[in-house]
Amino acid sequence: MDLNQKTLALAAEAEASLAACFAQIDDIALHNTNKVLSAFSKYRVSEGHFSGTTGYGYDDKGRDDLERIYAEVFGTQDALVRVQFVNGTHAIGTALFGALEPGQKLVCAMGMPYDTMIQVIGIDQPRFGSLAAWGVKTEVVPLAGRMPNIDALREACADETVGAVLIQRSRGYADRISLSCAQIGALCQAVRAVNSHAYIVVDNCYGEFVEKTEPTQHGADAVVGSLIKNPGGGLAPGGAYIAGSHEYIERCAARMTVPGIGRECGATNGVNRALYQGFFMAPHTTAQALKTAHFGAALLDRLGFTVDPKPLDVRHDIIQTICFGSPEPLLQFCRGIQAGAPVDAYVTPEPWDMPGYDCPIVMAAGAFIQGASIELSCDAPMRQPYTAYMQGGLTYESGKLGILRAAQLIRSKEA
Ligand SMILES: *Cc1c(COP(=O)(O)O)cnc(C)c1O
Repeated sequence: MDLNQKTLALAAEAEASLAACFAQIDDIALHNTNKVLSAFSKYRVSEGHFSGTTGYGYDDKGRDDLERIYAEVFGTQDALVRVQFVNGTHAIGTALFGALEPGQKLVCAMGMPYDTMIQVIGIDQPRFGSLAAWGVKTEVVPLAGRMPNIDALREACADETVGAVLIQRSRGYADRISLSCAQIGALCQAVRAVNSHAYIVVDNCYGEFVEKTEPTQHGADAVVGSLIKNPGGGLAPGGAYIAGSHEYIERCAARMTVPGIGRECGATNGVNRALYQGFFMAPHTTAQALKTAHFGAALLDRLGFTVDPKPLDVRHDIIQTICFGSPEPLLQFCRGIQAGAPVDAYVTPEPWDMPGYDCPIVMAAGAFIQGASIELSCDAPMRQPYTAYMQGGLTYESGKLGILRAAQLIRSKEA
């Protein structure tokens, strides 16, 4: 790569400014790696765990012990960790169906939930198979600016029929803050002050291993997330997890497959080793993605673009936004990220009219696992204020190189 001296000097300055942040990230990764290793040791992980099952998948020791390990790490009684979950949305949907009954109400605590959840819940229309069509009503508690509105949440939950509360930890693709575990704890307290029975379910996507604790250690009943994000460590080829109490996990399992079969079936088809090794890597991989986000923020900030979070902000997820203000630098940035990828680096991202969006979307992703956003990736709607959402980075080195390439491309077009 042909980087000019000015870009390299800015990069060196950006990286030097992050020493304290990086030290803190290393400390969190060490703590979380220890948690994972202790759980592996407790369940005597050995070669036999990796062989797995086919067909019905009865008595898959690797699968069942991995679920115990997830439960241990997330501080819950039990967990489902399944490759049969097609994505995070599927698992969050299962977790909500597991929590609710017809006639009850779901409260969305952090404003409109993640795009794909809107259809699962049926907020737009009671489409077939949605919670709405099943007879569950939903109340979306609006944010107070970019922050949670705790008073409004308390009010919404002071209703006997509220059976579940969904808290989205990560900002996703919305202009809001990502929640710290302490903030999630405060939301859980507010819910519990007025409602003793509702399941508090946290959409934990992009949040796993970012802090030393998880939302389930701050009052949440369950956490749910995708294995092609943080907890898969870049190695899991797919799947998702739900962690919570025994009783709740049994309810979710009846939804995941069918009543009567529940969690007993679900062959692992040869992926156990990748799921174990990925979970072992996950605290480290998440740290690599966090460092990549900090570096991107520090460099693009120096190039004069508005970044959120700010370069030195403590992170609560792995998403970094960069506001470019005009289409040209945004496009160049995405093209630079693509060119720096290990897979499909030769491809030139072009904006396209994705179904369900009101403007063209440009995406950069060159990943070993299709769509894995723990790998360096970036996407942006081509509209004002031309903001890119960047996340991931399996190694800090490759993340840094991708961002350098992108920065260089922006500067070359400026000249
Ligand atoms: C990724 C994500 C999901 C689930 O998305 P899938 O693409 O279905 O895995 C849900 N919520 C948030 C905040 C996410 O980042």
